Amino acid sequence: MTLGTPEQPLRVAIIGSGPSGFYAADYLLNKSNLTVEIDMFDRLPTPYGLVRGGVAPDHQKIKAVTKVYEKIASQPTFRFFGHVTFGTDITRADLQQFYHAVVYAVGAQTDRSLGIEGEDLLGSHAATEFVGWYNGHPDYKHLSFDLSRPRVAVIGVGNVAMDVTRILASTPEELAKTDIVDYAYHALRTSGIEHVSVFGRRGAAQAAFTNPEIKELGELEGADCIVYPNEVVLDEASKAYLALPTTEAKDAKNVTILQSYASRTPSGKPKQIEMRFQWSPVAILGDGRVEAIKMVKNVLVLDEKGNVKAIPTDHTETFVVDLVFRSVGYMGVPLPDVPFESKRGVFPNVKGRVLNEGQTVVGDYAVGWIKRGPSGIIGTNKPDSYESAESLVTDVKEGVHWLPIAPDREAVTALLQSRGVCYITFADWQKLDKIEVERGQSEGKPRVKFTDIDEMLRVVAE
Ligand code: NAP
Repeated sequence: MTLGTPEQPLRVAIIGSGPSGFYAADYLLNKSNLTVEIDMFDRLPTPYGLVRGGVAPDHQKIKAVTKVYEKIASQPTFRFFGHVTFGTDITRADLQQFYHAVVYAVGAQTDRSLGIEGEDLLGSHAATEFVGWYNGHPDYKHLSFDLSRPRVAVIGVGNVAMDVTRILASTPEELAKTDIVDYAYHALRTSGIEHVSVFGRRGAAQAAFTNPEIKELGELEGADCIVYPNEVVLDEASKAYLALPTTEAKDAKNVTILQSYASRTPSGKPKQIEMRFQWSPVAILGDGRVEAIKMVKNVLVLDEKGNVKAIPTDHTETFVVDLVFRSVGYMGVPLPDVPFESKRGVFPNVKGRVLNEGQTVVGDYAVGWIKRGPSGIIGTNKPDSYESAESLVTDVKEGVHWLPIAPDREAVTALLQSRGVCYITFADWQKLDKIEVERGQSEGKPRVKFTDIDEMLRVVAE
């Protein structure tokens, strides 16, 4: 019998239910002349990964992409198993009994560190934790952030830095329309924050943020966005960089936007956002908690590969701050029984085929941030996941896949039940989703999220 037919469907497990997992499912379910059954597992009861727990609460248009994922999940050969942890509730060896292949779509679950003195002082936080906290991610909801003092430094100028800065500087009215969780809304509404300095180690032309995000900072109701003209004048390295054919158009546009901010006169709004360029952190200072941050001024040099490098000068300055958010990127973490490249925080792979010491591991594929590192926007995952799923299909056609002893839909549910794993189906999630949206309607918000896993399980069981 041929694999991938109605009589013998190709059975694929996907670990992780964020965008990259759903795009892999989409490719496989829509491949012509191939019958595929997908089981998607997530350690959280809720699907959608960073769309729920990472995308900023005031970016509801971006979150609307979940409609596409709902459509994928509605296909009869797709099942969701939430609240199932890979490595404990179900292992790779278990999966080999039930599936022909596995796709890891687990993202990048921790933050990169700066490696400087004072990084662990009280009041120095990974931006990713703050994001998880204000989005009600069950792993981060217990954290606390002292927002009572006036001065904040954000290190890094990527889109996460933009999100964090915007949320810190938004007015209560701006936040009230979002699905930010209640405890974060109350903490931010009563916060004493007045001044947020955002530091990029390279220049305005090399900022990682995209145009809409820097525009939003200039449109906030209660905050002026301040840029110093001398920090957005293009130096020789930046001029040469912008002239390269490989440089993205958004970089020149970012410079234009920042230069327009530099020519503004602050209108006296209650909060200030200060965008600083060519400053690298040297040390976070304080007696037990953050009191200041020491920064060094950089000059820019264009190397022969077209990369602009920040070179420290001997000019340092110490800025008084009460809170530091380190927003220098996410980092992937290993999974049990899966090869891991610790320097880059990814599963080593070629076109999504996982490698172990240079050799392809039969049956294992990676998509999204655990495949390519934490880069790109949600849409970047579509071609990325399609590439890995195509590798999977090509391999299956060549007979390269796992040989499960129980390739049927009931065997896996029986195993989870026998282990007492209380899994959440897609219909269960839809029940939670409906309640969240209904709770939001009465408060004029898109939804009021469940943040506690036990509560979610209780509600589903009712
Ligand atoms: P990112 O875009 O990679 O930005 C990281 C920032 O940290 C860069 O400015 C980087 O500077 C800086 N940095 C790294 N190491 C540093 C160090 N040692 N000292 C000082 N600065 C350092 O990462 P991200 O902001 O975490 O975002 C991750 C991905 O999610 C991105 O692709 C982003 O576009 C995406 N995202 C998108 C949205 C959206 O679409 N609205 C929202 C959030 C996130 P260099 O450039 O000099 O390395």
